[in-house]
Amino acid sequence: MDHFLYRDGILHAEDVPLPEIAAEVGTPFYCYSTATLTRHYRLFEEALSGLDHMVCYSVKSLSNQAILRTLAGLGAGMDVVSGGEYRRALAAGVRGEKIVFSGVGKTREEMGFALAHGIRQFNVESDAELQSLSEVASTMGKTAPITLRVNPDVDAKTHEKIATGRKEDKFGIPISRAPEIYAQATRLPGIEVVGVDVHIGSQLTDLAPFEAAFTKIADLTRSLRADGHDIRRVDLGGGLGIPYTTSNETPPLPLDYGAMIHRVFGGLDIEVEIEPGRLIAGNAGILVAQVIYLKQGEGRDFLILDAAMNDLIRPAMYGAHHDIVPVIEAPAAIDQRPVDIVGPVCESGDTFAKQRPMPPLAAGDLVAFRSAGAYGAVMSSEYNTRPMIPEVLVHEDQYAVIRPRPSFDEIINRDKLPNWL
Ligand SMILES: *Cc1c(COP(=O)(O)O)cnc(C)c1O
Repeated sequence: MDHFLYRDGILHAEDVPLPEIAAEVGTPFYCYSTATLTRHYRLFEEALSGLDHMVCYSVKSLSNQAILRTLAGLGAGMDVVSGGEYRRALAAGVRGEKIVFSGVGKTREEMGFALAHGIRQFNVESDAELQSLSEVASTMGKTAPITLRVNPDVDAKTHEKIATGRKEDKFGIPISRAPEIYAQATRLPGIEVVGVDVHIGSQLTDLAPFEAAFTKIADLTRSLRADGHDIRRVDLGGGLGIPYTTSNETPPLPLDYGAMIHRVFGGLDIEVEIEPGRLIAGNAGILVAQVIYLKQGEGRDFLILDAAMNDLIRPAMYGAHHDIVPVIEAPAAIDQRPVDIVGPVCESGDTFAKQRPMPPLAAGDLVAFRSAGAYGAVMSSEYNTRPMIPEVLVHEDQYAVIRPRPSFDEIINRDKLPNWL
């Protein structure tokens, strides 16, 4: 459920008509709903109630300061995967003690910065990283709380590019090697083992792979405890999928996901952390674009928008589907015609949808891409020197630009000429 609904035939974000925002900020733009973000965060809080738990929002899915501050205000912790995201979380007012640091390639600089400003835990992904962290922490006279991210060798049954828990993926430590590396960790200076971590992928639409992985983590927890390790926390990663079409997808609900976590970990007297990104941010955002041209090709028609693959790369990168709807609602009885919906970028990959049935649209009409909040703005670029599009946050009947569109001068002046030119 989200808060982008038609009222009197006009698509609104909460209480704000989208044409009003378009008139002020221009198109294309991202638009987020505070009520939807809040609702989704609270679903996870509810799903885990009764367990000692912390919901650490995955910053990489949508990392604008206004979004982080909204979620931090609800009590969220943060999961970051770079020094830049760590700084974003701090800047949004999140204390270091509520920040979890994930990722396969943390540098010594990033480790040192996080240790200096406070950290809940590092999710360590290799013995080499463990060694580096030990050296950085002991040089600083600090102790780094850690979990080891284990790779449970479970197929998440999701898109190839976002599956992370199979043995051929670059992530985590093979579960068979976990006992050995935990033993190594306890011998290293500056390291304190606090738990176990797993994250098997993104956009999972079935609970079975989660349950298979979590059961392995629960078993590992028991055997590590039997070996004398103080395993007091499990971090279960993110990955719960969202419906990208209203018609045929029914991913599990957070409540069912939570019930399964209760089942697997309820008896272990352990703190549970989760790192959802997409499920919190995905349906809380849309991308609004304008039709520039209609073009008749040979045997097919094209709808050319002012948004392109540099603004929303998911269709080009993952073959992802986004529902695309007119901002002015089409009459229910109207004939839909298949069109290819494309952007202006000079690549055939700049195609959002092929042969998508759409109501009649004309140049100047607005359309909205649904479910564009997660992995949308954060993955955008300025390819073709197209300015990064603005982000707008709505809260009831108010809205604010939370990242303005840069001017062309700002973009061009970022380049510096060498002294010989
Ligand atoms: C990307 C990522 C997440 C968030 O995944 P979603 O599918 O957006 O919920 C959580 N944890 C880690 C380690 C990640 O890399």
